[in-house]
Amino acid sequence: MHVLFAASECVPFSKTGGLADVVGSLPRALASLGHQATVYLPLYRQTQLQAARTVIASVTVPYDDQYRFCSVVDGGKLNGVQYYFIDYPPFYDRDALYGTALGDYHDNAERFALFCRAVLEASKILGVPDIFHCHDWQTALIPVLLRSLYADDPAFAHSGTVFTIHNIGYQGVFSPDTLPLLMLPWDLFTISKLEFYGKVNFLKGALVFADAVTTVSRRYALEIQTAEYGFGLEGVLHSRAGSVHGILNGVDYDEWSPASDRFLTAHYTPQSLKGKQLCRRDLLQAFGFDKETTAPIVGIVSRFAAQKGFDLIALAADRMAHLDLRVCVLGSGDKTYEELFRRLARQYPARFAARFGYDNEMAHKIEAGADFFLMPSRYEPCGLNQIYSLKYGTVPIVRATGGLDDTIEPYDERTGKGTGFKFHPYTPEALLDSVQAALATFAKPKSWRKLMLNGMARDFRWTVAAREYVKVYEKLRSTRRAPVA
Ligand code: ADP
Repeated sequence: MHVLFAASECVPFSKTGGLADVVGSLPRALASLGHQATVYLPLYRQTQLQAARTVIASVTVPYDDQYRFCSVVDGGKLNGVQYYFIDYPPFYDRDALYGTALGDYHDNAERFALFCRAVLEASKILGVPDIFHCHDWQTALIPVLLRSLYADDPAFAHSGTVFTIHNIGYQGVFSPDTLPLLMLPWDLFTISKLEFYGKVNFLKGALVFADAVTTVSRRYALEIQTAEYGFGLEGVLHSRAGSVHGILNGVDYDEWSPASDRFLTAHYTPQSLKGKQLCRRDLLQAFGFDKETTAPIVGIVSRFAAQKGFDLIALAADRMAHLDLRVCVLGSGDKTYEELFRRLARQYPARFAARFGYDNEMAHKIEAGADFFLMPSRYEPCGLNQIYSLKYGTVPIVRATGGLDDTIEPYDERTGKGTGFKFHPYTPEALLDSVQAALATFAKPKSWRKLMLNGMARDFRWTVAAREYVKVYEKLRSTRRAPVA
């Protein structure tokens, strides 16, 4: 089967979050199962290509009363996966992928609509797939176009579409004027299609028009069908409940394993944990703490966004500062949270230390050197860091939501089973209770070792998830969906 992935970011070419990890790994896993996988990405300023070759010099994309011309660059084959890049410097040759500290780029609708059209046109020349697998709002117009403007194009008569929601908090909502500018028909602007409270909602379009919708954990697939987590799209999802699948993300253990991690000062395995002590010291030193301390280290690596639960940390911080722990934070994004951690580091220098910016090497060092990994998210579609943490023997403390709930099993001292600490109510008290329970277990070396080893033995490799996706693709091939009324 040939699966074409369209996405706005992908490791190792571009990354702001977990989406890039997923798009970096899933096609590779499919290729290893014997399928043909092709990935299309925008050619950003940040994208580094070894040997790039233009394969289509000009793709015509209509916009308003003019044409735009982009080209397609062949990024070659990597681990069995073919990569193509849509090159349009006015849109993609910029400092960042989606926007600056001041906000999103004003022309994001145009930037990603052009990408979607270019992918469809390019595929007609470079290979039409059995399945278009699209990710997040940036590629949401692909299923919409295939079922509207391109509905009669014989080239796509046998292609199905799968749309994966990585985070329903980001929907691509724009003014209605966007539709005619993008040369999309007005009949899409109805409540049963793209209209959303008087605006155009790209993500909603994909949820309506894709043949199947998936999201990145079972729990999140249920949560987004409720008003609390659906960000206004719960009704649409509910109406498609039979076509909504929760498939837990895998992780790439070639990149994230303490036995071989190229960023660590020492390696370790479940059989020999000594290296973790060296990683611990290395981390304490990097964050300016006394490197000999035996106090437990709590790690945080995160985008700074409201979703991630930093308001809980803000409310719990003064009480956390009275506990004997060291908190090492790495993050970037919303300046409010940067300011929060700056203040905590100033106020409690013996407890909190923070680094700001995107730093992959430091993310690995925190995974390895910390004793706990804290993710108190308000919502978390899947979450990758807690899964990495398990492999590094770094015990997750998480809020029971989305993928955090699906991947972390609460530790039970009596049975010795479980992999972490989990709390339910979104309150600082519940968070503190979990932290205290975690510290109590840390103080008992035998229990602690058992808990670490339980997590290290867990396996979330991608082939399991890839097989689930194949089932979804196969089902689409055997049943064609009726046109959307
Ligand atoms: P999300 O996609 O919501 O940001 P995930 O947990 O799914 O959350 O994925 C986050 C990914 O981004 C992980 O691979 C994590 O290590 C990485 N990451 C997040 N913030 C940073 C940062 N400041 N520096 C380096 N890596 C980061």
